[in-house]
Amino acid sequence: MSAAALDPKGFNKLYLNGEYVAAKGTETYALRNPKDNSTVTADVPIASAEDVDAAVAFAEAAFRGPWSKFTAVQRTECLLKLASLLDDELTPILTLDSQTSGIPVSLAPVRERTYIKNCLVYYAGWTDKQKGDYFPADDGFVKLVRHEPLGVCAAINPFNGPLATLFLKTAPALATGNVIIVKPSEKTPLGSLAIAPLFAKAGFPPGVFQVITGAGSTGALLAEHMKIRKISFTGSLTTGRKIQELAARSNLKRVTLELGGKSPAIVFADANLDNALTWTVNGILTRSGQLCVAASRVYVQREIADVFIQQYVERMKAASNDFGDPQDPGVKFGPLVDEGQLARVTAMVDKARNDAELVVGGARLGTTGCYMEPTVFLNPKNDSEIYKNEVFGPVSIIKTFDTEDEVIDMANDTEYGLTSGVFTRDIARALRVSAAIESGVVGINCVSVQNMQVPFGGKKQSGVGREFGEYALRLFTEPKTVLINMAA
Ligand code: NAD
Repeated sequence: MSAAALDPKGFNKLYLNGEYVAAKGTETYALRNPKDNSTVTADVPIASAEDVDAAVAFAEAAFRGPWSKFTAVQRTECLLKLASLLDDELTPILTLDSQTSGIPVSLAPVRERTYIKNCLVYYAGWTDKQKGDYFPADDGFVKLVRHEPLGVCAAINPFNGPLATLFLKTAPALATGNVIIVKPSEKTPLGSLAIAPLFAKAGFPPGVFQVITGAGSTGALLAEHMKIRKISFTGSLTTGRKIQELAARSNLKRVTLELGGKSPAIVFADANLDNALTWTVNGILTRSGQLCVAASRVYVQREIADVFIQQYVERMKAASNDFGDPQDPGVKFGPLVDEGQLARVTAMVDKARNDAELVVGGARLGTTGCYMEPTVFLNPKNDSEIYKNEVFGPVSIIKTFDTEDEVIDMANDTEYGLTSGVFTRDIARALRVSAAIESGVVGINCVSVQNMQVPFGGKKQSGVGREFGEYALRLFTEPKTVLINMAA
């Protein structure tokens, strides 16, 4: 394992066509470590229209040139080589990212590494399985269907899982023969820049994978670019809507949107209580609640409500002691990403005091850095902001219910539909409720969990399209029909 720490100040260039290059745009910005607001680096470049055009031109040249000659097996070899390079290289890169994301490095050995490596290995196995179709010439035409790559794709990523998101988009894009430009969040760009040269080491030709940095203005340049054929976006609902509009107004590029959530966890009286508590508490505290799949609404059946709420609240209160320096491998939970996010979360919590009963937390944790106390509200008003909107912090609400029908209505009374969880020992009820819940993923006796083999994405306003599994491949390819006139 390479132990060398990476210097954040070394990542002040864009990664274009297989090398780090100075941005043509002269604007830069600084990044701070949310654990103490110290400056991490002072000059992250903001890519200009000229930089974006250059990236797209390199990407097009790679797509039509050397990359188009790669066989499926060669693409597999590149993806597997990249996965093996990460054995040594990933931990220092995740540690670098942690300095601006506040994501604890304790998550790196298991959660982040497994996730990222599995993603590459999984999609490496799909390159040669993009089979098409054949229809016989019973009407005088042989019909063939090919699944072709879209061309130049762009990933626009959120702050809260920078590298995992990068690979979830890049691996299926490259497995199917596309090329990709990644724009990480302006809050967490360093790991994406640091990982870029590994693609060249793994054998991907220059221009196949590129990284440009910048804020929403740079993202908008990608979304409205006439030569980009697809945007794969993960982020907030507000931005997702803007991207969809820019895509429609420019070249009708394909758009996949992975957006926010307000995920319900439903705990029936017959559930394994300890299991339900463990999943629901972890489901709101992991990454300090900055998780699209966070279990932010908990519904508990009346018969067990007192005991469940008491133990849930105790665990949330005790978890305050597990927050600390995200760069310390012994620390479980870190700060929110920046002062802006802390201000946003505390404002929502302050407002919620009038709409629900605060039973634990409710304030900033400590006096240094962007830490927020684990916070629980009971019985919020149905139309309150805390009940309706995504908080993206360690803040949950609990409501009590009596019947299955009642809780299904409560869980579905939202415009979000990303994930959910049902806790019960009754398999028939688990299947009934999982069918009735309006979300893209339902966990039974688990929540806030994803799996590489199966589609992940949102119903309703939580998203458009799916990532993970075979489904992601379909959204990075398009069918082409070839008609062969047998009479000619
Ligand atoms: P955000 O929408 O603020 O930013 C996401 C990205 O969009 C950033 O790279 C940003 O620079 C870019 N952007 C901003 N304005 C843009 C514009 N006008 N045009 C193009 N790009 C623009 O989101 P965030 O705060 O970084 O991330 C948090 C959100 O992401 C939460 O809502 C969370 O639920 C969601 N999220 C969803 C998933 C999922 O898989 N469904 C996963 C992680 C995060």
